[in-house]
Amino acid sequence: MSRLYQHGTLAMLMGKQMQGTITVAELRQQGDTGIGTLDGLDGEVIILAGEVYQAQSDGQVNHITDPDTLLPFASVHFDAPTQKLPFSSVTFSNLSAQLKTAQLQQVFAAIKFHGDFSHMHVRIAPKQVPPYPSLLSVAENQPEFEAENISGTVVGYFAPQIFNGPTAAGWHVHFLSDDRQFAGHILDFSAEQVTGDLQIFDEFVQHLPIDNPDFRQMTLDFDGLIAGIEASEGGRK
Ligand SMILES: [Zn+2]
Repeated sequence: MSRLYQHGTLAMLMGKQMQGTITVAELRQQGDTGIGTLDGLDGEVIILAGEVYQAQSDGQVNHITDPDTLLPFASVHFDAPTQKLPFSSVTFSNLSAQLKTAQLQQVFAAIKFHGDFSHMHVRIAPKQVPPYPSLLSVAENQPEFEAENISGTVVGYFAPQIFNGPTAAGWHVHFLSDDRQFAGHILDFSAEQVTGDLQIFDEFVQHLPIDNPDFRQMTLDFDGLIAGIEASEGGRK
């Protein structure tokens, strides 16, 4: 058995529910590896070997050591790879093609790989304050950062199309450099040679913040939801 645990949904962020509703300590009980964002959509979180890092929107990377730090949305799992991934000449756009034989289209999978990246392009969500704006308006104003010849680790997930809403279908991956100085939500990358692992899950746990009154009162515009996800998070297929 292999389990992916997700707290919150992308649809909730679309519904302006950006308040943190799970602590780092609670999240760590569900996994040692993953991605997310902090309270108020504050930056891009990457969790590696149980250590939590946050890229904030000015580009600075913080090591998050306070176990009470809150997150509105995060996905974690315990790293137990099922398949080795050495591949060459990999880019974000050919990632699915590179993994074609893994037949991921109907499953949740985690990917984690390390290498020297000739190019890395990330964006970092800026912190919002209540009353929270729409995710779309946040998405239109996100700082982007680029680096050349940077070594680091890519971590994230593939989600099947039918789960577009709870999360972003396709790939959602974050980057953290080896020197812990550069990180973010990946828009594009290229590398000649990377090594890493793939982990396929047979269980997807969707955890909801049932004690949060704002979440309980949220109303969602379902017609706008899918278009909004495409425009804001749009995972690569
Ligand atoms: Zn992200």
